[in-house]
Amino acid sequence: MNYDVVIIGAGFAGCTCAQILAENGKQILIIEKRGHIGGNAYDCLDEHGIIIHPYGPHIFHTNSERIFRYLSRFTNWVAYEHRVLSFVEKKYLPIPINRTTINRLYDLNLTESEVAEYLDRIRISKEKILNSEDLVLNSVGNDLCEKFFRGYTRKQWGLDLSQLSAGVAARIPTRTNDDDRYFTDKFQYMPQNGYTKMFENMLSSPNIEIALNTDFENVGAEHKGATLIYTGAIDTFYDYRHGKLPYRSLQFKHEHFANTSQYQPAATINYPNDFKFTRTTEFKQITGQKHPGTSVVSEFPCDNGDPYYPIPNASNEALYKRYEQLAKDERNTIFVGRLAQYRYYNMDQVVGAAISAIEH
Ligand code: FAD
Ligand code: UDP
Repeated sequence: MNYDVVIIGAGFAGCTCAQILAENGKQILIIEKRGHIGGNAYDCLDEHGIIIHPYGPHIFHTNSERIFRYLSRFTNWVAYEHRVLSFVEKKYLPIPINRTTINRLYDLNLTESEVAEYLDRIRISKEKILNSEDLVLNSVGNDLCEKFFRGYTRKQWGLDLSQLSAGVAARIPTRTNDDDRYFTDKFQYMPQNGYTKMFENMLSSPNIEIALNTDFENVGAEHKGATLIYTGAIDTFYDYRHGKLPYRSLQFKHEHFANTSQYQPAATINYPNDFKFTRTTEFKQITGQKHPGTSVVSEFPCDNGDPYYPIPNASNEALYKRYEQLAKDERNTIFVGRLAQYRYYNMDQVVGAAISAIEH
């Protein structure tokens, strides 16, 4: 079979490219090293019949109507707004930090404008925000930084806040009102029948063939002449020519509690200062599934293992730029996605990046 396009990876990036190109009449082969489609957003039933996300909790949110409409062709949605509590000083407190967080942590009863004044008093004003430490200190000052951010960040990344780009901590806003949602995007939904079903619908064209359990490294020389779309780690593609790009990995501990209908007081609990895991997530609270038991995942960050997170800081960005330069010089290969572009993308941003990668 002669393919027009060979796509490496069946995650959001690969599936979006495949769907659009197949619709335009191209013959596509997707090569995926795992035994399933969907990349890290894959979901499935666990052995107890509970819908889980084996690679950690995935909540869809976007401000882009275009991306939301595009994905809506392949799934119906269920409205879902994520809420997270952070376990600090033996209390479960809303994160992002809001009025409730401040009042409950310090035993105060401040109004919204008083919280704004309070934050203004305790923040450590920075002229330049050079990294995540500057960003957090500039917003909430030292005590809240230590209690909510420094330990969590050290665990998650193996680095201090000061060693990470400001964009990392900037994902978490600070609020003076009572809004306790994790995200404020215009569109916040879960796919009604799960992500995997949505990916199956995206890949349903007869123009798309999928080779699972197949590593590109073993088939690299085949399919000459086809355009290549690569969504794996960019340093691997170039055989680490400029050195290894750091990616952070996770180990997931999945547990089931047969006689517990609700395990924890919110869908996700963050543990900035206790335990080796960063957070625990109870899937039923996200999917709305009814079941007498419950399944929970804890995330243990580590250096080695599947690459899950690019690590945003200046030196890694400089190294990535050297790989990006190699990529720019390729004639018939497109690099797109969280690993290939070394960007801390959310799912919707990957869809956006994939759409624009094939439009250009
Ligand atoms: P991936 O999903 O990583 O897909 C790449 C695919 O390529 C993989 O399936 C991989 O097996 C395959 N591959 C790589 N190399 C090869 C090779 N050599 N040969 C064959 N196949 C190969 N985003 C949100 O919007 N909301 C969330 O709540 C959210 N939560 C997250 C939680 C965790 C724990 C993690 C790790 C990420 C989360 N994300 C979330 C981000 C989201 O997972 C990504 O933005 C998105 O899934 C990336 O899609 P991708 O296609 O770029 O990469
Ligand atoms: N963060 C933190 N404390 C928290 C939540 C987040 O310090 O309770 C910091 C931490 O550095 C984390 C980053 O903010 O890696 C981004 O958090 P987010 O929840 O967006 O991470 P993700 O869901 O991508 O793992």
